[in-house]
Amino acid sequence: MVPDAMRFCFDLAVEGILADGAELAIDHRPGAAHCRTCGLDVRLDDPILLSPCGSADLEVTGGRELQIVSMEVG
Ligand SMILES: [Zn+2]
Repeated sequence: MVPDAMRFCFDLAVEGILADGAELAIDHRPGAAHCRTCGLDVRLDDPILLSPCGSADLEVTGGRELQIVSMEVG
């Protein structure tokens, strides 16, 4: 075994985990909001607050949170 090569591979693996693991490390919970314009209850699947009617006048009613589940690697 060559320690330097092992280290190199490990660094590459860690970089790959960090790059691909962003979604794994963050628990993205869909939220809900109430549109003040059309009265529709909107499910928020992405960070953009926008009602299907085009209005951005939304009242967040719950569930919307980003939680760091784990920052550990390896
Ligand atoms: Zn609306």
